[in-house]
Amino acid sequence: MSAEIHKQFIPYEPKAGEEYMNPQQHAHFRKILEDWKAELSQDIDRTVHTMQDEATLFADPNDRASQESDMALELRNRDRERKLIKKIDETIANIESGDYGYCESCGVEIGLKRLEARPTATLCIDCKTLDELREKQVAK
Ligand SMILES: [Zn+2]
Repeated sequence: MSAEIHKQFIPYEPKAGEEYMNPQQHAHFRKILEDWKAELSQDIDRTVHTMQDEATLFADPNDRASQESDMALELRNRDRERKLIKKIDETIANIESGDYGYCESCGVEIGLKRLEARPTATLCIDCKTLDELREKQVAK
């Protein structure tokens, strides 16, 4: 599971002169985000059930140890998915308030293609690149 969307959808084809982030575009991205969220929620439900089913399965301590690290991994994945769902909810709220699709940092249009690849993007590609450069410098 990654922050990249992997679900199939029909790319939005704007008509000539179509206004950016008009109601049709909002509806398009809202659908992508809601489908993605539903998919993540199903993943989380499945994880919970699997863990409950396996919880008492192994009596051997070695099996138990690997089972515990599996579970730790599952829990981390689940945590990531929950954070992603939170981010999706925030993004849907941005659509409702009309802020969606504009760079948080400089205010330019993020662009339909970039948003389809990363529907939760809040920065344009330039600000994102700058941001990553700064992060790398901090990490040194
Ligand atoms: Zn920007």
